[in-house]
Amino acid sequence: MSLKKYREKRNFKISPEPQGSPKKEDTKPDLIFVVQKHRASQLHYDFRLEYDGALLSWAVPRGPSLDPSVKRLAMQVEDHPIDYAKFEGVIPKGEYGGGTVMVWDIGTWTPEQSDVEAALKKGDLKFTLHGKKLRGSWVLVRTRGFGGGSKPSWLMIKHRDQYASTEDITETQPRSAVSRRLLAGIARDNGGNVELAATGDPASKAIPRKAVSKRAKPSSAAVPRKRRA
Ligand code: MN
Repeated sequence: MSLKKYREKRNFKISPEPQGSPKKEDTKPDLIFVVQKHRASQLHYDFRLEYDGALLSWAVPRGPSLDPSVKRLAMQVEDHPIDYAKFEGVIPKGEYGGGTVMVWDIGTWTPEQSDVEAALKKGDLKFTLHGKKLRGSWVLVRTRGFGGGSKPSWLMIKHRDQYASTEDITETQPRSAVSRRLLAGIARDNGGNVELAATGDPASKAIPRKAVSKRAKPSSAAVPRKRRA
């Protein structure tokens, strides 16, 4: 989106209106990150980071965990176009990745290392996420082995910070970050397989209004409170 017309109509020497960052080309634009929940042949979460004009992509079978003691397998897959970050809908049955896709989380990311290229080569990428669900510091570490398949295996791990938690966020926040729909709703709206898509939604969500109250609390909360007689 260009501000050319906006600026042409105004004289910023006279008007107090904001000019918009005039040296935009000098400042680094925000890098997009997205997590797409994908009910394909297997349910997984596609984690994507914008880098060098494309989205670096990993398929995370169990999705991200906010718990720093949990390492989530992340298989690196082919880079995707940046526009793909906006895609929420249905990939037709029989096509590559056929199934329902949800934008589960979206935002921007900041590398924590000055040389991202070197970090990727080394297999140790540290970054900060600024999403609606995922925030704070994370790391992707490449592992050796894992069957020696064609897809390089990495581990996605939350660093300890104020955003770390034992909350099972894929369970407690199953809805789209952009449309609030569940997978079943996205499938329904796009002519997909609603029953199959629904198998990727938490079972508890099938029961309306039933609250999921499995949030982990600090151990101090386990101490019973005294009741007043
Ligand atoms: Mn996928």
